[in-house]
Parts: sequence; structure tokens; C-alpha cells
Amino acid sequence: MSDSLFADASRRLERALKYVSLSEDTIERLKYPKSSLIVSIPVRMDDGSLRIFQGYRVRYDDTRGPTKGGVRYHPKVSLDEVQSLAFWMTFKCAVLNLPFGGAKGGITLNPKELSKLELERLSRGYVDAIADFIGPDVDIPAPDVYTNPMIMGWMMDQYNIIKRQLSPAVVTGKPVTIGGSLGRETATATGAFFVIQTLLPKFKRIPSETTVAVQGFGNAGAELAELLWKAGYKVVAVSDSQGGIYAKQGLDIPSIRRFKDANKGIKAIYCEGSVCNIVEHEILTNEQLLELDVDVLIPAALENQITEANVNDVKAKFIFEVANGPIDSAADLILEARGIQVIPDILVNAGGVTVSYFEWVQNRCGLYWTLGEVNQRLQHKMVEETEAIWKKSEELSVCMRTAAYVYGLHRLGAAMNAKGTRDYYVNG
Ligand code: NAD
Repeated sequence: MSDSLFADASRRLERALKYVSLSEDTIERLKYPKSSLIVSIPVRMDDGSLRIFQGYRVRYDDTRGPTKGGVRYHPKVSLDEVQSLAFWMTFKCAVLNLPFGGAKGGITLNPKELSKLELERLSRGYVDAIADFIGPDVDIPAPDVYTNPMIMGWMMDQYNIIKRQLSPAVVTGKPVTIGGSLGRETATATGAFFVIQTLLPKFKRIPSETTVAVQGFGNAGAELAELLWKAGYKVVAVSDSQGGIYAKQGLDIPSIRRFKDANKGIKAIYCEGSVCNIVEHEILTNEQLLELDVDVLIPAALENQITEANVNDVKAKFIFEVANGPIDSAADLILEARGIQVIPDILVNAGGVTVSYFEWVQNRCGLYWTLGEVNQRLQHKMVEETEAIWKKSEELSVCMRTAAYVYGLHRLGAAMNAKGTRDYYVNG
């Protein structure tokens, strides 16, 4: 991919604009992030040295409410990536009709190289640096790649120390014991499962005759693989950053998860064991996993996994994007031309932000829901919006991605119009 991730992300918007009538104001505003912050975070390392880390927080648009989005710890985090993720969050919140705008944050580092104490100092340092940029009514961080509930707990705690008040709603994805919501850790996978279960029957697909490959065996990918396995799907391949495994007869997902958990590294709070160490399977690379002849492919790791370079080797019939931005815009067009159904990230992985919204609501009203209540509300939202986007795609004869953008744009456009547009001021 030659140009930036953000330029590529914006192309999806341009395609959708052909199918929706919007005010000039809306189109103009959606081209730019509301505000972007770059911070340097000094961290005292265990050996006494001082290291400076680069961090980011981008608030893309807050027309529909306070901005919301995860914080990623990864060596490839850049302003371009954070801005693209914030852009996608804006649409995701609109698609799910959550009263939020989109944001994202990140720190450029390999978290596996830090000790637990260094990670804690870094996470608290990040909040020190962005404290005036976030808040329960302004911008609410959450977990993303290589961040977890404990890190969210540290972030909330640091914000509370700075503000000298208890504000659990400033961060979501916290441990349940300090204000997190039941079901948040599994929400992204559970939401994706509801989307899959809503759409596959429309293609007369039944679980026992449907093979699945999952790229990325983390919070979202591993949980979804297990949900699909439990529902009777044949999950034939999974992978993590170190590589993947394949078994034609299907993999026993719970035992692979147990293995990964048991092989946790001691350097940091991350699982360092690789699924590659499990027996009775073939070993494959992440590239090979994407090219498997399966019914359903689930990219659940990082961006730009399917591009012009490998798109013609993809053999899956359905792709459910659990990761954000795993397919670039050029590959998207080729997949569509080849009749491969792509169900977009802004719908498939929206279960995470939906339960983050539930957590924010529970924190603010001080009344906590049971797991059953959380999952029931999640199911209702995911199924309702999936059906609506499906209907929109049939009505306009467009792919599910364009339909989802059109659907989100209607809500964003209506919110922007409510504040007054050129038509209102000049012609009204
Ligand atoms: P995670 O850190 O828990 O897991 C990431 C997984 O991807 C790990 O298994 C890692 O080994 C694997 N991985 C990393 N690089 C890889 C590579 N090059 N090839 C294959 N696997 C690789 O992260 P997560 O929370 O599961 O997030 C995964 C994706 O889902 C991201 O795109 C994230 O933005 C998206 N997402 C997550 C949430 C959430 O609530 N956690 C919500 C919405 C979207």
C-alpha cells in the first residue's frame, strides 16, 4: 500500500457518499479529525534508566456525544494509524446508534519487552499526559491490542488521582471489581458471533458444514473461535503473531486456549506461549492461513492483512472483519468482484464498544447489570443493526461495507444538520 492508512480508510467514505444525500457541512467535517494529541511519556525503567515513549490520542468527531475508543500498545502505532482507528470508531458508534463519537489512542512500543512495573508506570504516565484531553463527558478510553482490564484499571486510578475524585466512567474495560461491566472482556467476540449467526443463515449455511479460520488468537479472536466451536462450527485454523496451526478435521479450541494461558511469559502480563506448540496439526504461517480454502475467514489481528498483493489467493467465501481495517480498499473491490462477502469491521467488532457503552451507563447510574442482562442487550443491538444494514445493502444493491457506511452516515448527517448547516443559515 503506497499511501497512508487514513487516506485508504477515507476511500470507503467516498464510495458511500454516492448513495446518501448529505449537507456539504457534514462531508467537509468528516474529512478531518477534531483534535490530535502527540505526547512524550518519560518512564523510569527498572534498571534506573529513563526512556521516553511516544503516545497519541485522536478525537475524530464528537457530534453525537463524547468520543470513545481504545488504546493500543504496539511497535507499529503511529499518528496515521491512531487517526484511522478514530475515524472507524466514529462510524462504528453511529452504526450501533451509541451516543458517542469516535476516538483512539496508542503508544509506540513492544509491551512484551516491559516488566509489569514498567507497564504500570507507562500507563499512568500516558494518563498524566492526556488527562486534560479525556473525561467521562469528553473522551473515554478502553482496551485494544495488547492492553487489558488491569491497564484500564491503572488508567482510571491515575485519572482519579489527578482529578481528586472518583470517576469510574472515564475509562471502560476495567476489571469488574472496580467498576467494569460483566461481559466486557468477551463483548467483541460475542457481538461478532451474533453478527455471524444473523447473516450466515441468509446464505443457507449451517454450523456443522461451515469451516472457519481465525487469524489472531487474542481477546477477540480466541473467544470468538471458542464461541463458534461451541456452536458446532468446524474451526480448522487459528494463529497468533508467531504463526498458525491447521487441522482439516477441526481444532479443539478450548484446549488450545488452555495451552496458551498455561504458557504465559513472565516478562510482562501477556501470553507469550504460541499456539504453534500444540500437537496433531499442520503448522502454517499467517499468510497461508489467509489463503486457506475455508468457508469463513476471520481476521482478528491487525490492519492491512489482505491487500492487492494476496487478495487473489484468498479462497474463503465469507470474511468477517473482527480486526479493524484488515482489508485495504483496493483488495475490497477485488473481493467484491469475486463475489466474496465481506462483513465490515464497523459492524462485526462493534460489540466491544457497545458493552463499553453499557459499562459507562452502569458507572454513571451506579446500578450494575447481570451478565444475562448485558448479553441480552448486546444481542438485541447487534441483531437489530445487522438486519438493518443487510436490508440497506439489498435496497441499494451494494456490499455490506458500503451499506454500513451509508447507514452510519445517515445518523452522523442528521446530528450535524441538527446543529445548523449552510441551507439553514442561507435559505432558512
Ligand atoms: P489482543 O492483543 O488481545 O490480540 C491480538 C492477537 O493478534 C494476538 O493473538 C497476537 O498474537 C495476534 N497477532 C499480532 N500480530 C499478528 C500478526 N501479524 N499475524 C497474526 N496474528 C497477530 O487484541 P484484540 O483486543 O483481540 O484485538 C484484535 C483486533 O480486534 C484489533 O484489530 C483490534 O483493534 C480489534 N478490536 C478489538 C476490540 C476489543 O475490545 N478488544 C474491539 C474492537 C476491535
